[in-house]
Amino acid sequence: MTYDTIILGAGAAGMMCAAHCGGRVLVIDHAKAPGEKIRISGGGRCNFTNMHAGPGNFLSQNPHFCKSALARYTQWDFVDLVGRHNIAWHEKTLGQLFCDGSSKQIIRMLLDEMCGAGAELWVQTSLRDLRKTESGFALEVERDGQRQHLTCTNLVLATGGKSSPKMGATGLAYDIARQFGLRMTETRAALVPFTFSDGRFKDLSGVSLPVRLSNDRASFDEALLFTHRGLSGPSVLQLSSYWREGEPIRVNLIPDLPLLDLLRTQRQSAGRKALTTELARQLPARLVDHLCRIIPMSGKLADQSDAKLAELTAALSAWQLVPSGTEGYRTAEVTLGGIDGEAERKFDGFVELGFREVGEHLDGVHEGKLFLQVGT
Ligand SMILES: Cc1cc2nc3c(=O)[nH]c(=O)nc-3n(C[C@H](O)[C@H](O)[C@H](O)COP(=O)(O)OP(=O)(O)OC[C@H]3O[C@@H](n4cnc5c(N)ncnc54)[C@H](O)[C@@H]3O)c2cc1C
Repeated sequence: MTYDTIILGAGAAGMMCAAHCGGRVLVIDHAKAPGEKIRISGGGRCNFTNMHAGPGNFLSQNPHFCKSALARYTQWDFVDLVGRHNIAWHEKTLGQLFCDGSSKQIIRMLLDEMCGAGAELWVQTSLRDLRKTESGFALEVERDGQRQHLTCTNLVLATGGKSSPKMGATGLAYDIARQFGLRMTETRAALVPFTFSDGRFKDLSGVSLPVRLSNDRASFDEALLFTHRGLSGPSVLQLSSYWREGEPIRVNLIPDLPLLDLLRTQRQSAGRKALTTELARQLPARLVDHLCRIIPMSGKLADQSDAKLAELTAALSAWQLVPSGTEGYRTAEVTLGGIDGEAERKFDGFVELGFREVGEHLDGVHEGKLFLQVGT
């Protein structure tokens, strides 16, 4: 069977591409259903774009890579598309847009768009062989236990990154890139929880609070969640993309709390109260118990000098930690780095090979901008 375009991968990128590329199109995926990662994205409500998304939000060794694509397809184009499909949405914190209902609505929308454009979808289909021919590509695939031979003029790699293998990620795009000599940048798990091998936060598992989490490269004001294995929550997932092994991170546990003033006032009006009791009014009590073992904070409020209180608030606003590592691709939401699309384009590698690439396996993606990275 011959197609103008065969797209490998029916995730966000593959389906969006199928809806737009025109001609006779076939989309192939080894999973049972398309868009499995979309289904679980945003806690089941799909954070489909961000009102403030721009090139600066895309992490890539080449920061210019996404500029032209983002100029052609913006967050507002995607918001329009969602509106045309009558999908209700709302803004959460920091401009993040989520479905009111289910992320399955986004999958349905993409399927409708791609089927409306005449594209065919084969699920539970595995690629067995791929070769370049004079006029395009020859593929051998296995579907329903049968081997089938396909040819196409254009091949689109949309099999995504390495993150979340239980949702179907295989890293096939990187293998194909290597097979055809495409240039790659280093890949790493990103948007991923930090681990601490000594299990020091086990007793805090489930505690969460708003923090400012930073290192020398970035800073995020969002929630932090203690887990059995270490730290998670939006601030941690965000900072993990800017972290390297062995580096410290700083946790400001009181980013918007005038704690020094509060403690001084309480010292005057309720001096007999224990310092830790007052702290447990401002911070989760289990966290205060834990911090007692690391930061000196004993005695009554009345016993605390200004200097002592200043020392305590300074310690709470700059708690330094060195994670042992991250949970890796198993729980990472995205893969950082990947195929260096811009370099290949410059060297005409893509044009010569007839390749097109869309999605997470490209070097230059970030969460919350799913359908903008797809547009690249
Ligand atoms: C828990 C979680 C929550 C997330 N939440 C959000 C969010 O709210 N907002 C956001 O923007 N991003 C979110 N992300 C990230 C987002 O899901 C990905 O960035 C996005 O899905 C990447 O799209 P893609 O089409 O490039 O790849 P994928 O969605 O990974 O699609 C690739 C497709 O290729 C198929 N495939 C893989 N290997 C093969 C193979 N060997 N043969 C055939 N088919 C293959 C897969 O089955 C899959 O269908 C989240 C990720 C996770 C894990």
